Amino acid sequence: MKMRFYGLRDLDKLPQLGKLSPDERFALKVVAHVLPFRANNYVVDELIDWDAVPDDPLFRLTFYQREMLSPYQFRQVADALKRDAPAAELRGLVQRIRGDMNPHPSGQVTQNVPLLDEEPVPGVQHKYRETVLVFPSKGQTCFSYCTFCFRWPQFVGMDDLKFSTDQARRFVGYLRRQPQVTDVLLTGGDPMIMRADNLASYIEPLLEPEFDHVRTIRIGSKVLGFWPHRFLTDKDADEMLRLFEKVVASGKHLAFMSHFNHWRELGTDAVRRAIRRVLGTGAQIRVQAPLLRHINDSADVWARLWQEQVELGMIPYYMFVERDTGPRAYFELPLAQALDIFRNAYSQVSGLARTVRGPVMSAAPGKVQVDGVTRIGGQRVFQLSFLQGRNPDWVRRPFFAKYDEYATWLSDLKPAFGESRFFYESDEFVRHVA
Ligand SMILES: *Cc1c(COP(=O)(O)O)cnc(C)c1O
Ligand code: SF4
Repeated sequence: MKMRFYGLRDLDKLPQLGKLSPDERFALKVVAHVLPFRANNYVVDELIDWDAVPDDPLFRLTFYQREMLSPYQFRQVADALKRDAPAAELRGLVQRIRGDMNPHPSGQVTQNVPLLDEEPVPGVQHKYRETVLVFPSKGQTCFSYCTFCFRWPQFVGMDDLKFSTDQARRFVGYLRRQPQVTDVLLTGGDPMIMRADNLASYIEPLLEPEFDHVRTIRIGSKVLGFWPHRFLTDKDADEMLRLFEKVVASGKHLAFMSHFNHWRELGTDAVRRAIRRVLGTGAQIRVQAPLLRHINDSADVWARLWQEQVELGMIPYYMFVERDTGPRAYFELPLAQALDIFRNAYSQVSGLARTVRGPVMSAAPGKVQVDGVTRIGGQRVFQLSFLQGRNPDWVRRPFFAKYDEYATWLSDLKPAFGESRFFYESDEFVRHVA
């Protein structure tokens, strides 16, 4: 199947959108002027249930809704479009709104970029000791854009590939000097948007003996959900699979970190065949996704998503809490509710699907899991713990926050039991473990 991308300009032309009212169609366009819009023919023809729009979860996954901007932001852009405002004015307005949408949560731009010979290494983030993230410069776009994506600033050119690797590929030199790194995670965007030979130019050097310390190559991708034909009929589909086989034959583990938001994405003939082909290379597929109001905020949806993953030979990995950026107000759920959904879904599946961890916040100090709500000494509290910490010694030390039914992120939480800080914020602890 041949891929066709749809962008902002196609919102006037896509015949399927005739199902929407003129008002809804206009709303789509208004939001797509601020946030990046891209879909493709597989998403439009095979994933979205057009009889169920605008409520269809896969429609909401890729097409914008009015409520994804604040009423004020929406009105400003809508007015500008209606009166055909000059391009420069519209651009200025859009840039101002984007700037107000917390484009860089958790200090992503400034933190976690390592140094080599005192110079920053472009396209690399190294936050947790054993895992290095690599952002290949040609892999910084996607087959379709998720409406909730926290990487939206890069798709609208705000970060302008600031994250991605340079010509000289200095990340290889960096990795050479980091013997404690066992995992290299290629991420984006979506690295699978690259041609096989281009992806190979990132992976093959790591198969040389000098990188024996790198035991696992991970690829973070939503290709199976958005374009399974990547492994079926794309010109270099077989070449890509051979690259996967080569990694496995080298003795390293190839972990394909796949992103599925809803079990409906597992239902097409194409995705099932693509999953079988990837598994056939000896790679493993682990699955992670955020919990999203209006898309998958139901325990039954998650239980079925995990169960079907197991049946298809994949491994449930993380359920994330939606990050504090972009149209977050539309998608966010209180942590207490996220925990209820997680527990309810988890209790419906057998141990084989309980490899999943969650709900997890990928926050500035680390990956923090909400373990549960309990009562201690008469106080209702959240129990939390780090699955990954900026400091490895923070991992799996239970800590407690006052119960707050509205809190949606770590930064909303207050320490329980009269403490003034969480343990990882204490200077004494930082000194003690340093
Ligand atoms: C999630 C994440 C990783 C990988 O963590 P695992 O728990 O090993 O999957 C690595 N680096 C960063 C910055 C991350 O957010
Ligand atoms: S596929 Fe991943 S990186 Fe791309 S838009 Fe979706 S969430 Fe963002």
